[in-house]
Amino acid sequence: MNLTPSFITIRHLKKHYAEGDQPRTIFTDLTLDIQRGEFVALLGPSGCGKSTLLNLLGGIDLPDDGQIRIADQIVTSMSEVERTRFRRRHIGFIFQFFNLIPTLTVAENLLLPLELNGLMSAEQQDQALQLLDNVGLGDRRASFPERLSGGEQQRLAIARSVVHAPWLLLADEPTGNLDAMTGDRILELLLKLHRQAQTTVVMVTHSREAAARADRVLVLDAGQIREMAQ
Ligand code: ADP
Ligand code: MG
Repeated sequence: MNLTPSFITIRHLKKHYAEGDQPRTIFTDLTLDIQRGEFVALLGPSGCGKSTLLNLLGGIDLPDDGQIRIADQIVTSMSEVERTRFRRRHIGFIFQFFNLIPTLTVAENLLLPLELNGLMSAEQQDQALQLLDNVGLGDRRASFPERLSGGEQQRLAIARSVVHAPWLLLADEPTGNLDAMTGDRILELLLKLHRQAQTTVVMVTHSREAAARADRVLVLDAGQIREMAQ
């Protein structure tokens, strides 16, 4: 019997949104385990609650009931201030529309998570800036995001999402706004960074091809999670 607890445990999660006076139920009893270092793909029809689940995992939102534990931290029992601190320190996010800050340069966008965590020693900054080389943006430090192509913006967003060495990387349709070839490159980059740092990744995608590159494929539908045979 395996007594080692999973890295992430999601237990009996319940979530609804108020919609007028009709509650809209997303999950009634969602339970899931994710192992340390796993790359999990999450598929499911539009509106089924994939982003909701990522937001709950990242402590952006709270469930109505149930528990989420990441490592030894019970995210669902934290105060809002604690969740914000936990998210800044241990979670990385990548979004479909990059979410870069237009008034900051490439280097400033990259370093923001370090700054928010008070991790700005010269050595930490140097290491972070090496990440820019790693994603092919070493010569764009002083550019502003609007001067970058979509693929370059997403590469910067990916570098920014891992700059503070998060425990968990949450990617919400990271290739959804890119052409197929650029999307493939972004996926390869994510896989490479995952291999290098052994970061646990949960990636929402609509692409079965992209999902097939993950260690495990989960399908969310009608509030239930099932594992897809690969
Ligand atoms: P997915 O990412 O799978 O497309 P979401 O998690 O974004 O789905 O949303 C699930 C459902 O909950 C959708 O019907 C959406 O309209 C609704 N929803 C999401 N966020 C909110 C919110 N803040 N308030 C009300 N309804 C919401
Ligand atoms: Mg979504």
